[in-house]
Amino acid sequence: MINIPKGTKDVLPSESGKWQYTENKLRELARLYNAREIRTPVFEHTELFVRSIGDETDVVSKEMYTFEDKGGRSITLKPEATAPVARSYIENSLDSMSLPLKTYYITPAFRYERPQAGRLREFHQFGVEIYGATSPYLDLDCISLAYDALTGLGLKNVRLKLNSIGCSECRKRYVDALRAYYADKLDEMCPTCRERYAKNALRLLDCKVPACRELTKNAPAILDYLCDDCRAHHEALCGLLEGIGIPFEIDTGIVRGLDYYTRTVFEFVTEELGAQGTVCGGGRYDNLVSSLGGKPTGCVGFAVGLERIIMLMEKQGVDFAESVPDVFVMSQSQEYAAECIKITASLRRAGISADTEMTGRSLKAQFKYADKIRAKYAVVIGGDEIAQEKVKIKKLSDGTEEECGLKALPARLKEIK
Ligand code: ATP
Ligand code: MG
Repeated sequence: MINIPKGTKDVLPSESGKWQYTENKLRELARLYNAREIRTPVFEHTELFVRSIGDETDVVSKEMYTFEDKGGRSITLKPEATAPVARSYIENSLDSMSLPLKTYYITPAFRYERPQAGRLREFHQFGVEIYGATSPYLDLDCISLAYDALTGLGLKNVRLKLNSIGCSECRKRYVDALRAYYADKLDEMCPTCRERYAKNALRLLDCKVPACRELTKNAPAILDYLCDDCRAHHEALCGLLEGIGIPFEIDTGIVRGLDYYTRTVFEFVTEELGAQGTVCGGGRYDNLVSSLGGKPTGCVGFAVGLERIIMLMEKQGVDFAESVPDVFVMSQSQEYAAECIKITASLRRAGISADTEMTGRSLKAQFKYADKIRAKYAVVIGGDEIAQEKVKIKKLSDGTEEECGLKALPARLKEIK
């Protein structure tokens, strides 16, 4: 037997309804915000991710699925979609459309990580990217969309954590202060953090090792180092969030794992998924488009991990409103099978989800099957029904029955389904 690769998962027929429910809700919400879908390839040139995400990040240094294709090019399965969307925005001159431009995506993403609950090697993201302005109204719109998405899916106790990591100017001053703070603590830090200290000190705040987390508690806060413009942006955003009633907490420990962020960074977190508690991460990335060869463009976006939110929805008992067949058409005995097929076909053409017996089972076995597939109604077809052109519609949840003319069956089922 050949097994599924480590860190990947099948979405089985019994689970796909949950995914469809979730994805449909997210698409509908994106529509309410005037965001349009963008689809980019599953793989890109490796260089795209190295240049945008940053080669000292975990994603680029350890987690990418990179290989050489038959033409000798270095290809990488997308570990995230912000960079591919930016690549497409530049390549297709999407700035020639009216700005701001709002896009969303639902995509698989690939990272070579240690698999655990809520951490996979192939996972899925719903994300939004808004292009074309540096105004805090864009940040607000983006965070508001994420907030409405999570609450609209019925999730509870998900907290919004907000921070600003400033621009390159404020960050330079902050990183100096951070280095000074950590200088005499190198012995207490994990080996990765010692590397981060040398190469990318901001990421020290991102470490998940408990001892390192402890050290970050007294580290200087980046908000104290913001320049006037970045501070004004941050304060304006806080005011706007308050204005539309979106609760948030300032958390100066949030720096996000990728290099391209500027100013606003945020996460939505839950306590109910253990170490994999971040269900959504995002922020502003005003330098990404220009660093990939486009014009300087204010942008803000986020990505939600679909596996994590579906796990949380299951935990919190959200009703996924899964669809079930409206009716199962049963045949009294095999000689009526052809008639059952005909009736079933007419029901489907009328927009009723219908199924019928195809394996010649007894009526009892058919009832059992109809229960298993959770059909709402059953209709039994035999000699009398055909002769009199009349059937009984049986409601399977409580056994009640009503009579109906065969010709009127599609219309009646449509009324009561
Ligand atoms: P984490 O800190 O949990 O590794 P991250 O900061 O690497 O997350 P992002 O790059 O911000 O994650 O991706 C956005 C979202 O995608 C995360 O908040 C999470 O919900 C989801 N996600 C990221 N990596 C994985 C993974 N390996 N498996 C499942 N979901 C993931
Ligand atoms: Mg990660």
